[in-house]
Amino acid sequence: MTLQELQKLVLEQAKEKDWGTKPDEIIFGEKLALLHGEISEALAAYRKGKMTGDESVTEELGDVIMRTLQLAGIYSIDLEKQILKKLEKNKGRDWSKDQLYIDRDKRNK
Ligand SMILES: [Mg+2]
Repeated sequence: MTLQELQKLVLEQAKEKDWGTKPDEIIFGEKLALLHGEISEALAAYRKGKMTGDESVTEELGDVIMRTLQLAGIYSIDLEKQILKKLEKNKGRDWSKDQLYIDRDKRNK
């Protein structure tokens, strides 16, 4: 299943549940806050050591993707195209680690 196919399913459910499928049916900032809430839920699950099952990191990361697909779909954003573009852009970047600080010793300073 492609990202676009998943997005279609997410939007179909959003329509059924009246969660919004068009810009004039939502408040953008509210949807972003809800997306952020899912990320926070993933962090909370991780802190409890819950990687799978109900209210786990796995479930919450799925929620993040679903909310992202819904929001992108509402604004006709092609996430597949954007991800491919970003993958290409990242090739030109010169840092090698995905962390806030390259030097781990600087984390606590
Ligand atoms: Mg959740």
